[in-house]
Amino acid sequence: MASRVIPVETFDLVIFGGTGDLAQRKILPGLYRRFCAGQMPRDARIIGASRSQFDDAGYQEFVREAVLKYVNKNKIDTDNLDAFINQLRYIAIDARGENGWKDLAKLVRSDAITAYYFSVGPGLFGDIAERLHKYKIADEDARIVVEKPFGRDLETAQALNAVLAKNFNEEQIYRIDHYLGKETVQNLMAVRFGNILFEPLWNAQYVDHIQITVAETVGVGGRGGYYDKSGAMRDMIQNHLMQLLCLIAMEPPSHFDPNAVRDEKLKVIRALDPIQPENIVRGQYSADGDEKSYIEDSENPDTITESFVALKAQISNWRWSGTPFYLRTGKRLRARMSEIVVVFKDPPHSIFDVQENRRPNELVIRLQPDEGIVMRVTIKEPGPGGMRLMDVPLDMSFAETLGEDSADIPDAYERLIMDVIRGNQTLFMRGDEVEAAWRWTDPIIEAWQEKGSRPAQYDTGGSGPEDALMLLHREGRRWREIKA
Ligand code: NAP
Repeated sequence: MASRVIPVETFDLVIFGGTGDLAQRKILPGLYRRFCAGQMPRDARIIGASRSQFDDAGYQEFVREAVLKYVNKNKIDTDNLDAFINQLRYIAIDARGENGWKDLAKLVRSDAITAYYFSVGPGLFGDIAERLHKYKIADEDARIVVEKPFGRDLETAQALNAVLAKNFNEEQIYRIDHYLGKETVQNLMAVRFGNILFEPLWNAQYVDHIQITVAETVGVGGRGGYYDKSGAMRDMIQNHLMQLLCLIAMEPPSHFDPNAVRDEKLKVIRALDPIQPENIVRGQYSADGDEKSYIEDSENPDTITESFVALKAQISNWRWSGTPFYLRTGKRLRARMSEIVVVFKDPPHSIFDVQENRRPNELVIRLQPDEGIVMRVTIKEPGPGGMRLMDVPLDMSFAETLGEDSADIPDAYERLIMDVIRGNQTLFMRGDEVEAAWRWTDPIIEAWQEKGSRPAQYDTGGSGPEDALMLLHREGRRWREIKA
């Protein structure tokens, strides 16, 4: 099955923070892959912008190194790399100063699509937006791409939205959540809304509960100071896990159109009940051999910041009333994996005597590793011996279905950047969505701070604190195992 690549129109993409970690690891390698796939026109330009002093040739070599380091060796083609590098420019600019901005104004073309990627610390988002406007660099067709974190609470998110809104229309603002750029996340929408099969069952009558897990094996060593001001609730739940929850729970939009989709997601967030303290568990990882504990990594002996959260959310609407959504995320867990599991109810009556090995139907949507979708169904165990039931996966993994083409599936950043150039905001968060999400998480964080109590300790390489398991066990349910 050959994948179709539709080239985008020519563009100038300015990357503020073009020398930073994200640019080197994700944005520039991603653009190189799109170039190789034939999606990036030969006259499109990528303009790095940050304080470091480079000329064009120096930046081109810097980017060459990054591509060689972060792109799979067998995807490197020297001719393509030379041609890609040739499309790079650089401007030394200080987001908080006045140098460089006039040069940037001269460099960007008025007859190309222009996009400005804010790949800098969040403290600079407002400065850059204001200067792009002040120096008349960005016209009303220009797009800006804003990285996470988008605020640290409702108040700061509102302030940031206000600064951006002073200089840009909402249609120009692309708030990035790279989870939304994953192939499987879009496939989830295709599976839900492109088939008659699932939608009739997609409600509290047939769905027992839903689990969303984003597990990491790494701790916060090296950036503990930064993380300690954030924590799992702000860093993961408020954005990535809530976005996944919205896509699972939303009503079918009337069109696959940015505002129609985002309207439906917003309704889900607004229908979330406030979380009761007994329905949320916090944790901090403990030391393990040479591996430091969270408290040591954060270098703050009094820290009450959580490196793990598990919670039970309820959506009060007709579709979902009575079906719990269990969310969990944490660091230093058994495996690196992200998945959504829709666990269906048992059939109302069993005609079979033998029940062993029978499990409820599950739809497992795996985001990493091995993106794919698996439906678990019950069948008869083959062979003689009467009617024995067993549970088998119907595998819709991309690697199986798409064969070699699955290796060419763009990663989240590649896809999202191309969406910016195409002017498609469907997979980006709207300002009101981000604010609604903070409105839901703020009281939870405030309650923790008021109480001042320590999160529970949990072992490295496990699945979080005991209480997180109890969140489901006490209701006769169990988490799916965390495994790669
Ligand atoms: P980083 O490695 O610290 O890079 C920061 C970039 O900003 C550098 O290119 C730096 O270049 C530039 N910069 C700093 N101060 C500047 C100023 N006053 N004017 C102009 N440029 C300035 O950070 P990062 O990890 O790439 O993260 C960038 C953004 O992406 C952050 O908002 C982060 O939260 C977000 N993010 C990062 C990741 C990731 O994996 N790294 C993942 C998700 C989100 P100079 O020093 O040359 O100026």
